[in-house]
Amino acid sequence: MSNPLQRWKDEWHQQHGQERFLRVRWLLNPNETPLENVELVEYQGLVAEIRASPTSGADVLPAILIPALVNAHTHLEFSMLTEAICPALPFQDWITSLIQWRRARDPEAESSIRKGLAESRRYGVTSLGEITTTHAVSPLEVPEGSTVVSFREILGLQQEQISELLQKASDHLNHTTPTGPRGSVETGLSPHAPYSVHPNLYEALIELAVSRNAPVAMHLAETTDEIELLQDGKGAFVEFLQGRGLWNADVFPGGRLIRDFLEPLAQVPRALAIHGNYFSSRDIQFLARHTNIATVYCPRTHAFFRHTPHPLPQLLEVGASVVLGTDSRASNPDLSVWKELQLVAAQFPDLSIPQLLALVTTNAADAMGLPVKRHQILAELPCHAVILNADSEAGDLRSLVCHSSTQPVFTILGDVAE
Ligand SMILES: [Zn+2]
Repeated sequence: MSNPLQRWKDEWHQQHGQERFLRVRWLLNPNETPLENVELVEYQGLVAEIRASPTSGADVLPAILIPALVNAHTHLEFSMLTEAICPALPFQDWITSLIQWRRARDPEAESSIRKGLAESRRYGVTSLGEITTTHAVSPLEVPEGSTVVSFREILGLQQEQISELLQKASDHLNHTTPTGPRGSVETGLSPHAPYSVHPNLYEALIELAVSRNAPVAMHLAETTDEIELLQDGKGAFVEFLQGRGLWNADVFPGGRLIRDFLEPLAQVPRALAIHGNYFSSRDIQFLARHTNIATVYCPRTHAFFRHTPHPLPQLLEVGASVVLGTDSRASNPDLSVWKELQLVAAQFPDLSIPQLLALVTTNAADAMGLPVKRHQILAELPCHAVILNADSEAGDLRSLVCHSSTQPVFTILGDVAE
């Protein structure tokens, strides 16, 4: 971090309660023209005004100001991992290692969740979509001003488990966690994946989500093995499920498609289709017509598993909803959704920076049913923003955004900069 930024923060705190000024090299908002050399005026936690900076020299911080960020997909329980679980492939072996790790570290799950929440906040993330298994996120653990959408993971391939699992899902949605002195927790459901959820259970979970107006997140079209299992009832997942004593031939007769999961998902108010690495062109057309389903692209996790190029450009081209997520530390080095954006900006030079910013701010908040205004920097709104260090020599905005030194250093929330 550069000294001017630290000096600014010290002054900002000293001037608490007064009208305060923040002059930055760039101010970016989702889907809006980037503003260069801007002065933001803050008063009592609100953005009072955004105007051209009266100076352009040393007074302007070497910084980019962006709205507070949204990470649409992670599993906080794995935040204790210091490096990804290896090897990544075959995918079924990776899942086995993941399950073993979770079982062994279960007593530490709560501290892992706390660690993930703190890490997310350091990276400027104030809204988070998290997959919850054994340990629910307590609002007391969520940093003030942050919101977690806790999607309860449900999986089961046997008909006789269904009523018990539905009860679990319903209990999770009943668990009201009002906003306390700290952050808030909203609830949703996560039928895990097509290879781990009985079709009748899936149908019932969707029905429950519709009746309760709850958001749903599901891992979908993640691997070619998953498609093969659905279409032909064969492949690597058969052996995997048999090995775990979970195989149920009735559930995988073949002749099923990703579309069979997308169609019910289109009924819920807000749905996240996590990964979508192998969506077909027909799936993409379907998603163009059902923008309540957002595909969550997890770029560095996608690279970790060496998938073929993600259909992100095709999805955006037809107007389908897309957002970004980190997935967990089991497949990613950290929980910085900004670094995900940097990778996508480098991968897809045709996508504009303001367009990409929407995938980690307004679009991502909306995809989970959260207010989008918390992720915009506009006059009269609460000042929720992230200051990115931008002291590299990179000339144009895109190079500056992609530069490895351009990283979140402070988050401003209302009248506090942390
Ligand atoms: Zn995931």
